[in-house]
Amino acid sequence: MSTKRDFYDVLAVAKTASVDEIKKAYRKLAMQYHPDKNPGNKDAEVKFREATEAYEVLSDATKRQQYDQFGHAGVNNNGSHGRHENMDDIFENFSDIFENFFGGQQGGRSKAQRNPSGPAPQRGHDLSQRIEISLKEAYLGCSKELKIYHFEVCGSCKGSGCKEGTKPTMCASCHGAGSTVHQQGFFNFSQPCAPCRGQGFKIASPCSECRGQMRVQKYETLSINIPMGIFQGAELRVTGKGDAGIFKGPAGDLFVPVDIKPDKVFHRREHDLVTTLALTYPQLVLGCQIEIENIDGTKETIKIPKGCPVGKEIVIENKGFAKLRGAGRGRFVIITDCDVPTKLNEDARMALLAFAEKLGNKSQGNGGIAGFFKKFLG
Ligand SMILES: [Zn+2]
Ligand SMILES: [Zn+2]
Repeated sequence: MSTKRDFYDVLAVAKTASVDEIKKAYRKLAMQYHPDKNPGNKDAEVKFREATEAYEVLSDATKRQQYDQFGHAGVNNNGSHGRHENMDDIFENFSDIFENFFGGQQGGRSKAQRNPSGPAPQRGHDLSQRIEISLKEAYLGCSKELKIYHFEVCGSCKGSGCKEGTKPTMCASCHGAGSTVHQQGFFNFSQPCAPCRGQGFKIASPCSECRGQMRVQKYETLSINIPMGIFQGAELRVTGKGDAGIFKGPAGDLFVPVDIKPDKVFHRREHDLVTTLALTYPQLVLGCQIEIENIDGTKETIKIPKGCPVGKEIVIENKGFAKLRGAGRGRFVIITDCDVPTKLNEDARMALLAFAEKLGNKSQGNGGIAGFFKKFLG
């Protein structure tokens, strides 16, 4: 047989004890051997654990039945034995009970004592409002006006919510806790206090401007500075421009996700500004110098090398998007393309045919470029 003490003996109750009697017995022992009352007392800790284990089994109808039938073996097999390796586990598992024992008997009194002087400040909500800018604005950086609708601190009462010279009064129902504790069986449940709507305090003489709400909803126009180099989907944060807090709590923040409209000429590739440049076939073949415009309107002269293929990337360093963190800029990348005319005048057509003929003698491989011209122009 087990050397463990009988659970009924541990709690000092009869085998026929009611659930209430078991509860009372455990409550008494827990009060007596609670580690808070017996600091450093190993013997008290052992007794406390023993009582807790006994209570855990005998308070549960199924476990109790198995214990009655099979003794310790019946409940050990259930895995309940040794579940609480340390004291912290016990307090976590039975926190409701211990709260009930030590101070919970008068509802949320212990909580109310945390803010006896006044209501707890509450931070306002964060808000989010998208903004749309052009790719050029993203390249250069810009300042944008943004109209937002949010709660501001009531100017009349400076956010107190009260008529001048009055103060919030502590809620009589919850004594300032903002929540009330209800006992159901052996456990405590906390829920927001209804009369004060969870705020713990009530405003007896409300400010006429905000009717005690401490804040008013208003439109505000903000100037948002958008740094150069900002990327699609970046989210700017404007501190304190969300909703104002209540009971003098801080305001929330305004988040501004940035959308960048696609541009017809330029696009972005990481930090690079990219554009396509259509050149004529002779320009590609013979090479040339050409002036092109950057997205900010500045002019760049680039050199197209002789025999330049379509799709070649010509790079101008440090003329791309500014890097938000760290120094420097990306590159301005110009991708070559061939401008193939759909209409040719007769002179040009004849010249092209003559060219094709000349080139035909040097045709490479399978039909080559001469074959191409014969098929489509011949
Ligand atoms: Zn209340
Ligand atoms: Zn007011």
